[in-house]
Amino acid sequence: MKNVYLILIILSVSCKQAVNTENNMEKYIPATVVDETVKEIESKYPHADKELIRRGVKLTGDFWIAADGSADDFKAFCVNNYSEDKKPLLDRFAKNMETVFGRFSQISKEMQFPVHVGNEPLLSIDEIFASWSPFAHVNDDWFDNKLAMILHLNFPYYSLDERNGKGLQWTADENAAVNLGLHFASRTPGKLQQEAGEIATRAELYISNYNIYMHNIVDENGKRYFPEDMRLISHWGLRDELKSNYADKSETGLLKQKLIYDLMTRIIYQEIPQELINAKGNDYCPTNNRFFKDGQETAFEREKDVRYAFLLEVFRSAKAMDKYSPLYPDAIKRAFDQGLEMTFEEVETMFTTFLSAAVSKEVGKIIRERLGRPLQPYDIWYDGFKTRSSISDEELSSKTSGLFPDAKALEKHLPDILQHLGYTKERSEAICRYVAVDAARGSGHAMGASMKDDISRLRVRIPETGLNYNGFNIAMHEFGHNVEQTVSLYDVDNYLNSGIPNTAFTEALAFLFQKRDLDVLGFKENNPDKAKFTVMDNYWNAFEIMGVALVDMYAWKWMYANPNAKPGDLKTAIINIAKDVWNKYYAPVFDVSDSPVLAVYSHMISYPLYLAAYPVGHLIEFQLEQHLEGKNFAAEIDRIFSIGHCAPNVWMTKATGKKLSVEPFILSTQTTLNLFN
Ligand SMILES: [Zn+2]
Repeated sequence: MKNVYLILIILSVSCKQAVNTENNMEKYIPATVVDETVKEIESKYPHADKELIRRGVKLTGDFWIAADGSADDFKAFCVNNYSEDKKPLLDRFAKNMETVFGRFSQISKEMQFPVHVGNEPLLSIDEIFASWSPFAHVNDDWFDNKLAMILHLNFPYYSLDERNGKGLQWTADENAAVNLGLHFASRTPGKLQQEAGEIATRAELYISNYNIYMHNIVDENGKRYFPEDMRLISHWGLRDELKSNYADKSETGLLKQKLIYDLMTRIIYQEIPQELINAKGNDYCPTNNRFFKDGQETAFEREKDVRYAFLLEVFRSAKAMDKYSPLYPDAIKRAFDQGLEMTFEEVETMFTTFLSAAVSKEVGKIIRERLGRPLQPYDIWYDGFKTRSSISDEELSSKTSGLFPDAKALEKHLPDILQHLGYTKERSEAICRYVAVDAARGSGHAMGASMKDDISRLRVRIPETGLNYNGFNIAMHEFGHNVEQTVSLYDVDNYLNSGIPNTAFTEALAFLFQKRDLDVLGFKENNPDKAKFTVMDNYWNAFEIMGVALVDMYAWKWMYANPNAKPGDLKTAIINIAKDVWNKYYAPVFDVSDSPVLAVYSHMISYPLYLAAYPVGHLIEFQLEQHLEGKNFAAEIDRIFSIGHCAPNVWMTKATGKKLSVEPFILSTQTTLNLFN
């Protein structure tokens, strides 16, 4: 999953700092000293770009702390280390960063190997080795020895706007210089990093232990609907159970969905009994909020806004880092401008344009007709556009387990898979030389290389009986990651340009491979409705997740505007935000007002500000698929994977000729809708 760029981003936000950087970074170097320094460099290099000198000096000053030296030391440092000829510096940074990050990533992979691969019992030290990171101190070290300062002085930062605007014209070296300037973007004290890590871990633990024993959920008449052993995590498990009940056309399916929806509402409002969470035995009716012990109704303590208290803690730990990150001075900018490489406003406009499209109402109408009832808020998870494959799972699994009895067999077969997708024999072998397959303990993942000659790992669970079809489908996804990781490392013109824009892109590219799994196996799907139902399904999924992402985004805006809020205030605010988003974009489609359901996602608490990446990924994937239609898949993908790391809109334009936009998705849904009439 990782590419070099991501590793550096993660590194720049997750490293511990040495003690001497625990100083306050605020305005240690006064503006007058910056001005004097700029003047001195300008007179030494009269032909250099004045604007770039100013930017470099200013940013170096922003990072400079007392421990680095006096204001005079700062001036001397800048004058002595400014270089007019950037090329030798750029090449040395590229070479040494490949060595450092490439080797460190190799070490990490080795340390994590026992935890990720095989089924041997683990030693007690394996987890410790796996969680130790050789990257942990690079950020400190490179600020302390001033390599990071020399980097910022000579390779000044370009904003997202500038990168999107000018990026198409940049040469490979110019692009590499800009990419270099994006690294080491914060100098956060280790203590704060550590605290934030601890809070994140506690928030994750809170969410991963938020299970509901469904047998204890009863309706207003005390009737049970769910099996004894059903334990569902909020919100994923609850949502998936709700979805699965679309297949049950009887009254029971609907009743179960309503109970789950009521339960979700009680979680959002924090009216749920504390004693119900992660504990079995006592019954609860979420519809009328009544709690029973041994069949007797009992008074109970509600959860008391713990959910929102966690979010506030996560917010405060992020906010404490703001002043150490001069380029991205708040958590929203770090998540969007830095992480997703798209601004909050840009993403917000895409989502609201999509959500307001007239086509949503028409898709809603089709769902209403298919359900034969008015829409309910939980129908954001309507699952009825999924079509059954015309080929049975047994048939598919018998083929995959025959072909791939073990990891070695799959590895040997990888070039054939690429050839099925249209790659030449020579090219497929050249790529697959750098991909190895391991039998994973978990369901699967891909781990890329961060230096040439290292190998990227494709990991998938392979049962004794061979790889089943579900496993093969996952393997195709991971293989998509591996191919992208390999091509975007070897076929870019500078190490600093390796990779692709961000996680949303990574996932979109992996799905391109995953979706072609049947072709690779030589099967032809012949369900005539599949294509049109898939378009509807994708639309409805995007429609749901964009609203959820907006609630997450607006919640963070609200917290920044109200930093001293209490958990109860945040609860009220988030419920209002969720209802506002609902009333604006969903109520016109559903004919129901004031639902808070968009606030139920647990990502909001344990992976804050991450939800927007999912719909952005959907949009990228859609636009790429549309571009690939009628073209030679292998040739085009090979070209696209080798674009390398640049601003998202530059990348999309190089890949598809167009910037990322919601319009093609909306248009294609409109066209498909006509097939339903
Ligand atoms: Zn993936």
